[in-house]
Amino acid sequence: MSMQRLAILGSTGSIGTSTLDVAARHPDRFRIFALTAHRRIDRLFEQCLAFLPDVAVVGDAEGAAELEQKLRAARLTTEVAYGPQALSAVASASGCDTVVAAIVGGAGLASSLAAARAGKKILLANKEALVMSGALFMRTVAQHGATLLPLDSEHNAIFQCLSTNACTGAGVERLILTASGGPFLQRDLDTLDDVTPDQACKHPNWVMGRKISVDSATMMNKGLEVIEARWLFDMPPERIEVLIHPQSVIHSMVAYADQSVLAQLGNPDMRTPIAHAMAYPERVDSGVAPLDLTRMANLSFHAPDLARFPCLRLGLQVLRDGCTASVTLNAANEIAVDAFLHEQIRFTDIARVVEKTLESLPPLAGSAALEDILAADERARAMARQFITQLPTSRVAVVAVH
Ligand code: NAD
Ligand code: MG
Repeated sequence: MSMQRLAILGSTGSIGTSTLDVAARHPDRFRIFALTAHRRIDRLFEQCLAFLPDVAVVGDAEGAAELEQKLRAARLTTEVAYGPQALSAVASASGCDTVVAAIVGGAGLASSLAAARAGKKILLANKEALVMSGALFMRTVAQHGATLLPLDSEHNAIFQCLSTNACTGAGVERLILTASGGPFLQRDLDTLDDVTPDQACKHPNWVMGRKISVDSATMMNKGLEVIEARWLFDMPPERIEVLIHPQSVIHSMVAYADQSVLAQLGNPDMRTPIAHAMAYPERVDSGVAPLDLTRMANLSFHAPDLARFPCLRLGLQVLRDGCTASVTLNAANEIAVDAFLHEQIRFTDIARVVEKTLESLPPLAGSAALEDILAADERARAMARQFITQLPTSRVAVVAVH
């Protein structure tokens, strides 16, 4: 067993913190090369004190000066850098072998791609990067001999169910992604207009960052995840299914040609998939409590209701439509979720904004170069912002009084 040197991009987030928790349990296996945060300098400073990274990266010069001052006062020699180029630099530095891609949203694309180009072992949480750049990302991983391991619990579960098969991938019929259905699985549809950001972020089973929490409430998260699965496992769209399973005990399944269905089970705690990917192909303690099946009165499953979850309907449509449609889907969703979290639009407007943006920007076929992806991303963000300003003002005004 050799020491792995980790660069954790987005270390102050939910995934980043869980990754550090697992790393701290195994100081003989993992050393921290780099930690990065966008704005939370205090949190990053505490992490630097605990893990003594070689490099720390923040969003801007001001944050860098503040962190530098704190580090020097504490007599730490951690080097400080800032900005997107510094993120890509640590992701490809010779000082690390493993990159944990845990930045949220399209902001993580460049550094995830840089890690792939540098042939790193990439533990991917940043699903938006793969949704935006699927073909390009997978090609880059292959061309540069990088290793891609999924942290997203569903994809990690599928990866585990595939690798127990001696001939990985052979005879696979379908991938079945489970979904909890989020906090509004049962809520009266007529009341969804009035949902507040805090209600949307209160997930019944998982504690996560705010953007993915809203995505789970709209089920756009599952829409992004079917696209993520399509690329990670090179699976045609028609062989990827979504199944509601409110208890989040089975994290996903693989159905084989002989009708064996393999499932991966565990408590809903991201440290399990994180520890799996960090130690792969070995197994290590994750700090997660043992799964007690005797305390589970009932595991239930049903098909998703696409009328309740229009964002999932859009995700499934884009899964079939291909390349720039998924860039548009992701970009419009990021803009709409951000506007919802800032109480500028209603919860139900998220799907409206995404759908209108998709309708007005038909997918460009066959295009997979980074410039095309970034151009499509910019176009969709601008278009989504425009639709937000065109929403009836009564809608915006009502939200403002909440
Ligand atoms: P989070 O909001 O808790 O953390 C995000 C991290 O990214 C923070 O460290 C933040 O500083 C950094 N960041 C944000 N914007 C940035 C920018 N513009 N530039 C550089 N850094 C930036 O998010 P999270 O819940 O940890 O999710 C991270 C990623 O993992 C997302 O893509 C999410 O979909 C995925 N994921 C999360 C979970 C989960 O349980 N939280 C599960 C599966 C997948
Ligand atoms: Mg997931």
